[in-house]
Order: sequence, then structure tokens, then C-alpha cells
Amino acid sequence: YIRAIQPYQPGKPISELVRELGLEKYGVIKLASNENPLGTSPLAMEAMTKALQEIARYPDGSGFELKNALSKHYGVNVNQIVLGNGSNDVLELAARIFLKPGASAVYSQHAFAIYPLLAQALGAQGISVPARLYGHDLVAMLNAITPETRVVFIANPNNPTGTLCDTDDLLRFLERVSQDVLVILDEAYDEYLPEANKANSISWLRKFPNLLITRTFSKAYGLAGIRVGFALAHPDLADLMNRIRQPFNVNSIGLVGAHAALQDIEFVKRAYATNRAGMLQITNGLRQLGVEYIPSYGNFITFRVRGDVSNTMKTYQNLLQQGVIVRPLGVYEMPHHLRVTIGLESENEKFLKALEQVLKTST
Ligand code: PMP
Repeated sequence: YIRAIQPYQPGKPISELVRELGLEKYGVIKLASNENPLGTSPLAMEAMTKALQEIARYPDGSGFELKNALSKHYGVNVNQIVLGNGSNDVLELAARIFLKPGASAVYSQHAFAIYPLLAQALGAQGISVPARLYGHDLVAMLNAITPETRVVFIANPNNPTGTLCDTDDLLRFLERVSQDVLVILDEAYDEYLPEANKANSISWLRKFPNLLITRTFSKAYGLAGIRVGFALAHPDLADLMNRIRQPFNVNSIGLVGAHAALQDIEFVKRAYATNRAGMLQITNGLRQLGVEYIPSYGNFITFRVRGDVSNTMKTYQNLLQQGVIVRPLGVYEMPHHLRVTIGLESENEKFLKALEQVLKTST
């Protein structure tokens, strides 16, 4: 079953595009991987630069300082935290405990591509539940659970559709699902939510021992390249995950960078505000261009390209030619859509201008 796996396709790196198309590196913008356009918190940068002096030594495999800081920040016990090499790592740890041939994992159609990949890699069955208005249909997902189901994945907000589940619906789902089934609530984009839209899911951990919440430093904290994510769960579940992880799964620069980034509240606020303004700029621009989009709660937005499927890839290629990298969504069963990450004001403008140009020439 390993040979049947379609490898995860990350956003095209700028260097590759520059080489392929012979473009000047200057002016090429990557809006393909939901990274932070502000870069990295200056506090984190300073701490990481200092920590470079110590890389001859192994990292602290227990992540003592970072876990203590996270415990204070989120009001959980240290024994409820699992650190990972990005949140993908903690997703994989959980999947490895629960999924094997004969078991199944339930996820929504158009959900994050790593979920089906994990199920497949572990020889488990992946059950993709048809989406509702591009988002999770929690009632249908509940009904899709079979006695073999060990894991349900829910991304909230979801990537690549940007949809958000209603908090009451989520709670109802958790109340109804058997506690033998692990519910993974992937909140990679939580920091981009307005307070009123946050589920406050961490308070649910006390009630649901089968709940696992995953978060990341890759998005609002601007540390995607250094790979730090974490999971919050019941201590028994966290203990299982800590047993099977690599002893040094988070590197020393990442530990220090994440710790400093967590303290840099100003930076996260700025990331949030930049994203809100950019989202408004891009949605206004798309509307003016008559382009349909899916309203998003993340730091990205997915829009529809008119015409047949080949038109979508043509639009993607034409944007590349103009030095704008976005993300095609074929693997997400969305061959008519492209996803663009919200950038800085000037980047958003460049994207909108390029798209306008493409639409003009293709009609
Ligand atoms: N979950 C979701 C929903 C995501 O979109 C991403 C990043 N694309 C991740 C998890 C993984 O992020 P990371 O491994 O960088 O923490």
C-alpha cells in the first residue's frame, strides 16, 4: 500500500521557479504555503541566533522550558503537552498509535492532505465524508464512523477551504462520538480567528479524554522553517505519544525560537491584524474581478477559476509566469480552485494585478 501513496506536494519554492522560468529572484512572491508574510518574530530571531552557539550539543529532549511556557500560556499541565517537529509530527504520532491495517480514519472531503496520507501510510482505511458548503459536515462524519474507526480528523479552520465549524456543533459531535475514537482537532490557524470565533476547545480537554488538539508555530508565529508544533491532550494520551516520538524530535533552535515567539504577543497581534487587512484587500479585489471565493477564517483564501479544469492550471501557470506562486488544489478534489496565502499589502496587490492580467488575456 505504500507504493499507492501520492506524495504530499508542497508549494513550489521560489528558487525552483526562478530556475524553471528564468525569472529574476527579486519580485517573485510565494503565496502558496500559508506562511507568515511578516517573517519571524524579532524576539525569536534574536534568541535563535544566540542558540546557534550551542548546536554542538543535543537539544533538551524533554523540551522542559518550552513545555513550561506552553503550560502557563494555555493553562494545561506539562504532562498534557507533546512537542513535535511541526504539528505534522504530532499528527503522525497520534495516527501511529491508533491506525493500522483493519482500522479506519474519518475525515472531511477537502480536508488537510496529510490526513488521508497518514491513514494510507499506516495501512488503515481512509473514509472521506462529503463536505457541506466546502466545510465539515459533522453529522455525516458522525454517521460515517464504523466499529473499526479509531481516529476522526477535524481541521478548524480547515485548510484549504478556510471553513470553520460551529462551536456548538463541535461540542455536540464530541459528546456523541464514542470515547474509543480519538478526535483530533487540528487548530493550526487558531491565532487568525477573532476572539468571538474561537472554540475555547482547550477547556474541553477535561471532559473528553479522547480529544487531541494540535497547534503550530508555523503560521502566526512565523517559524514554519524551524518546525515546531505541539499537541494538547489527556495525560494518558500525551504519555503514549511521548513514548513513541523520537527523543530529539524538536531541534534546539526550534525549542528556543518557539519559546521566545510565544512571549512576543505584539508580533502575533501584528500577524493577526495584517491578515485581517490583507483578507479584506484580497476579497474586495476578487469581488471586483468577479471571481468567486470561499469565505475563509485562515491566512489564505481559495477561489474558483471559471471554465474547465485546464483553465485552472493555465491560470496557475500564468500567475507563475508573472512571479506569483499560488497553490493548485487537485489533490484536494478541488480542480477548479486555487489557494492564495494572504501576504503583505504590496504582495496582495501584485497577486490581484497578475490575476486581473491573466483573466483579461484568457477571455
Ligand atoms: N494542519 C493544517 C490544517 C495545516 O494547514 C498545516 C500546514 N499546512 C499543518 C497542520 C501542518 O503544519 P506544521 O507541520 O508546519 O505545523
